[in-house]
Amino acid sequence: MESLLNYSKDELIEKLAPLGIKGYRVGQIFVALNQGKAFLEMNIPQEIKQILSENFISQPISILDKRISQDGTIKFLYKLEDNNIIEGVLMKYKYGYTLCVSTQVGCRMGCKFCASTLHGLIRNLTAGEILGQVVVANKFLGGKLGEERKITNIVLMGSGEPLDNYENVAKFLKLVSSPDSFNISERNISLSTCGLVPMIKKLADDNFKITLTISLHASTDEKRRELMPIANRYSIAEILDACKYYYDKSNRRVVFEYVLVKDNNDTFEDAKLLSTLLKGFPTHVNVIPLNSVEERNLIGTTRQKAAQFVSMLTKLGQSATLRRTLGEDIDGACGQLRQKYLDEHNN
Ligand code: SAH
Repeated sequence: MESLLNYSKDELIEKLAPLGIKGYRVGQIFVALNQGKAFLEMNIPQEIKQILSENFISQPISILDKRISQDGTIKFLYKLEDNNIIEGVLMKYKYGYTLCVSTQVGCRMGCKFCASTLHGLIRNLTAGEILGQVVVANKFLGGKLGEERKITNIVLMGSGEPLDNYENVAKFLKLVSSPDSFNISERNISLSTCGLVPMIKKLADDNFKITLTISLHASTDEKRRELMPIANRYSIAEILDACKYYYDKSNRRVVFEYVLVKDNNDTFEDAKLLSTLLKGFPTHVNVIPLNSVEERNLIGTTRQKAAQFVSMLTKLGQSATLRRTLGEDIDGACGQLRQKYLDEHNN
């Protein structure tokens, strides 16, 4: 059965009318769903609970486990209706909470340093399953909807490649930014992609105004191909063209993620090439030392050297920051916790 979290309020009105559920009841059900309630917990007549339970599921995901880091970061393991496991990270900042959401079970992009891709793509998440992560995390924090929500920012940087699941992700963006529910402004949502060029253009054409974040991680195509198979399909030049197109349409500065791999992409020469590449439109670089993947002999650059890389970029006139690493003691990076869970459960 399908979860009602897949629908906007207007769609829910259409969906429930043939079942005889109308008027203010639908609004009530919509709010309760987005607050994380099961049908049985809703303040509605018994017969309506029954009709709903016979036809739909309410919450498509639940919290299976959580780990709390010393810095306050919380890592969730969620369980889906078909027993697949996904993960998410909740980070506390001065202005509120940022939730990192997953968009697929697994991933087929094959980046060499990423734990999410080890078993390939299992399946896409539905819009309701992506929204469900926000719903359960917000409920966990005791948040409600609108101005009373606790989650203020969303990053699509969990497992999966969001632009490889475009329709569901686009639907999710509409749902979560809707004034009827979480009302999280597109300005407070970042989508990170390894660079699926046609889909970046589609995001622009569909008039999204979210922060586009590109996992670049290299300053030449040759080096990028060593780390990311997608670099065989699209060149850095093509990605940058698509980013400029997105900037022209959205007027949003584009962010580039750059993980530093020891003795691979962390030299002065790399910083120079990178700053030259990004000249010409407003961009920002987020530098982060790689979370080492020893099996593949990819080791993260030290924090000290990473800070030097950032100051080289800054001296070259490129806006850049060294990203805080949160939740390192709880396997905060992409796919690491899920992988550990699967290993422990012999999957
Ligand atoms: N598929 C999307 C979003 C998910 S990954 C993308 O490629 O952008 C979120 C970010 O974590 C990406 O920038 C990814 O490159 C990075 N990442 C993955 N594994 C990492 C690791 N071991 N250390 C540091 N960053 C990592």
